Amino acid sequence: MNPTGRLARIFRQAGFDLYLVGGPVRDRILGRPSNDLDFTTGARPDRVKVLARRAGASSIYTVGERFGTIGAVFETGPVEITTFRSDSYRPGSRKPDVQFGDSLEADLSRRDFTINAMAQDVLSGRIIDPHGGLADLVAGRIRAVGTADDRFREDPLRVLRCVRFAAQLGFDIEAGTLAAARRTAGELRHVSAERIGAELNLTLLSQEPGRALVTLLEIGVLGLVMPELIPLQQTEQEERRQHKDVFAHTMRVLSNTPEVRETRWAALLHDIGKPQTKSIRNRRIRFFGHEEVGARMARKIMRRLKFDGGLTDRVTHIVRLHMRANAYEPGWTDGAVRRFILEAGEDLDELIALSRADITSYRPRRIEAGLARVAELQARCEHLQAERDVAALDSPLDGHALMELFDRPPGVWIKPIKQYLLDLVLDGELEPDDVEGATVLAKAFVRRHTEAADAIESEAHHAQR
Ligand code: ATP
Ligand code: MG
Repeated sequence: MNPTGRLARIFRQAGFDLYLVGGPVRDRILGRPSNDLDFTTGARPDRVKVLARRAGASSIYTVGERFGTIGAVFETGPVEITTFRSDSYRPGSRKPDVQFGDSLEADLSRRDFTINAMAQDVLSGRIIDPHGGLADLVAGRIRAVGTADDRFREDPLRVLRCVRFAAQLGFDIEAGTLAAARRTAGELRHVSAERIGAELNLTLLSQEPGRALVTLLEIGVLGLVMPELIPLQQTEQEERRQHKDVFAHTMRVLSNTPEVRETRWAALLHDIGKPQTKSIRNRRIRFFGHEEVGARMARKIMRRLKFDGGLTDRVTHIVRLHMRANAYEPGWTDGAVRRFILEAGEDLDELIALSRADITSYRPRRIEAGLARVAELQARCEHLQAERDVAALDSPLDGHALMELFDRPPGVWIKPIKQYLLDLVLDGELEPDDVEGATVLAKAFVRRHTEAADAIESEAHHAQR
């Protein structure tokens, strides 16, 4: 028998019911995979621990015990068993005022949305649905349990959660719930940056990130959680006849990207530097250096939302390089493509995906040409990578070898010589292990440069006289 069945029997023998509850009930009915296996029961945490062990749990986790949650690991994976609660649901509050309850109904009524407020009796399979969650699931509707205004005020994170679930499931938000979300959005100010960041992340990784962001804008949440996005709306960019603002463009790019965390965040932030860098030259709108300004803004935003350094670095890097990928033309030499691969590093796939998503013209011919261009860049990258590992290419002479060769102490003089040799390697004109050839080339390079420097000096000398 599987762990769920075993658990339910053992709980039953001890006089308790065991219910699957919340997310997994919703996901099972929808036939979509569930993140977690959550159960609820009348048994108190102390009892739950004993019963879970008796059902064969290999280990027990108690980090959530003060909220009534016991984690148990079975051969099929972890499950969580939470004692019925009757308090209001305050996961964000400092002091947990947890009150255990004796009824499933009270537990369900403190949950956020009707589709998340259903339970299933494990032994009989009966669905317990006091708030009409099933009807809302069928209708594709997110609706608050009870009075929406109160629910959002209790925990303002629910405002973000309702938009997130709508985006994940492709549902609509019921009108009353949406109106209440709009009225209470301001309360999000009191929610921690981590919780907001985590919800935004799930929203971006949903099937409809663009639509979700538009909803967040409409209900006044976006300006609170990411004010830097608001000016994009007033920033027009030329799109041949069709004028569209950078915000609308960004939403389309977002919807064009695969569900990859780095790519989605970079898509959201790739043009964030445009409002600050806009200029008009020869009647054309320009955004010189927006990728650099944008990269700095992206880093700040990701840090503010408390994302880990790894994700922050990668998103910043992708934003900084996104115009390099977009600038690709068939005329690029193999050396230029290799330089791009080297600069892109681990973000190569994401940069190519973003470049493909960044094609949002309304004209089919331009879209076709743009897609062909990105496909060619990708094919050339793959081809060159298959030939040899571009990331491993390096100058045949390293800093130490150059110091020895020219009998000079370490200093800034090394960098241009190494770069020159690496460029030759990338261009395929020098083998990475050709030390002899590199020595000749390095000497000639230094000679040329000293001659040029001497010429400048003597010219200046003559001019002075
Ligand atoms: P996911 O697929 O994202 O895990 P989920 O519905 O399981 O979705 P969780 O955040 O894991 O969401 O929460 C589990 C359940 O706890 C929810 O289904 C809901 O019933 C309840 N819940 C979670 N967060 C809140 C909240 N902020 N307010 C009220 N109920 C909540
Ligand atoms: Mg869950």
